[in-house]
Amino acid sequence: MDYLPIFFQLTGQPCLVVGGGEVAARKIATLRQAGGKITVASPRLVESLRELRDQGQIRWLEKTFDAADVEGFKLVIAATADRAVNASVFHSAQARDLPVNVVDCPELCSFIFPAIIDRSPIVAAISTGGASPVLARLLRAKLEALIPPGYGGLARLAERFRLQAKQAIADGDKRRRFWEDTLQSEVADLALAGREEDAARLLEQRLNEPDQPKTGMVFLVGAGPGDPDLLTLRALRVMQEADVVVYDRLVSPEILRLVRKDAEKIYAGKQSSNHSLPQEQINRLLADLAKVGRRVVRLKGGDPFIFGRGGEEIETLMAEGIHFQVVPGITAASGCAAYAGIPLTHRDYAQSVAFVTGHLKDGSIDLEWDKLAVANQTLVIYMGLQGLDQICAGLIRHGCPPDLPAALIQQGTTRHQKVLTGTLANLAAIVAQADVKAPTLVIVGEVVRLHEKLAWFGAG
Ligand code: SAH
Repeated sequence: MDYLPIFFQLTGQPCLVVGGGEVAARKIATLRQAGGKITVASPRLVESLRELRDQGQIRWLEKTFDAADVEGFKLVIAATADRAVNASVFHSAQARDLPVNVVDCPELCSFIFPAIIDRSPIVAAISTGGASPVLARLLRAKLEALIPPGYGGLARLAERFRLQAKQAIADGDKRRRFWEDTLQSEVADLALAGREEDAARLLEQRLNEPDQPKTGMVFLVGAGPGDPDLLTLRALRVMQEADVVVYDRLVSPEILRLVRKDAEKIYAGKQSSNHSLPQEQINRLLADLAKVGRRVVRLKGGDPFIFGRGGEEIETLMAEGIHFQVVPGITAASGCAAYAGIPLTHRDYAQSVAFVTGHLKDGSIDLEWDKLAVANQTLVIYMGLQGLDQICAGLIRHGCPPDLPAALIQQGTTRHQKVLTGTLANLAAIVAQADVKAPTLVIVGEVVRLHEKLAWFGAG
């Protein structure tokens, strides 16, 4: 290890930055984030620094640097374009044993700046020892995605209850176990979701009744339309922390592979009216699994609240007082439209978009045709394959032009995506001749014309 990472307590400490350009401004921003009191020495200042000076946020020594300037500071940074000035800053700081950093010049640094992930009070720092700042930044981007912003809230919560936990649980080992459990429990889930007060209430409850059985939690997670790359960061995180996953037919094998290896996987697939587990049974299952203290992920295709019966599943959970969270996903309409190059709205073609289901419980189709057969609107039909000919005929009957463009997107966003286009008059016949596999989505409207033009760029 060439450098020792330490965290410098900078609040209220006087720092000198030599140089008044953009690079200096960036360093000043970082130092201010940590509470440093900044003096900048430079004959000129860029606009942003001038503003800070005018607001009294930083002090300006309007001069070229000389050695005595470092006197009285706790930290010194040189960010000028002049090598001689930078070297002189370094030597005068060194002579007084002050920590000094010359930007982009590792040999003139007694410390270096890491790439920072700020989830205050949690702070992570990455350094490549000056070997490749770009690599450090790329790594930081990966960690930014891995450490959700809510971690700051979780740390604040732990801090808030530290003393109380110490008083409630005298034994050190027991207390450590309490924190280990709590910081991986639904207390953490609530805090990470930004619900700090709910998390605090639950934490308090755990402290007051330490022997209470563990309560589980259900995550209703939207897995998106198929491409695993379209999962949200939160979906991925809860999938990797799950004890048990209850998934649908629509959830692709590639996505299932991202679930924690040891998690139990339960198939609750549905295929049109041929349900393999009746909805009531799924609702019951989720509640029962959570009641024995497990972290349950209910993984659903697309978004759980769009034709996903997510509402029914959480009603049962609510009725039984089980904690739950809904993690939204990319719905088939957004995913398929993007990958097929069909914008759902467009200033020239469609000012509104309607999502409808082409399939009712009893297998019939009962759409409010008058509201759907309107100009300048895109219609997205979920579960519309079986009734496609009836839907197209219904729209024409209610005033849509027979030559209105329409598309069918099969297995959208996946490697097997196929797009068939036609018009209301002929789409059903085109589809009948093709070997179409579920799931499929139908998009009707002028925007379909853009498919030819845009598919090139959008196709995944
Ligand atoms: N909750 C889901 C929809 C469930 S209803 C969502 O938000 O996307 C199931 C219907 O969604 C299917 O019949 C089909 O019309 C559509 N669908 C889901 N994934 C799809 C995909 N990858 N390609 C095409 N259609 C899809």
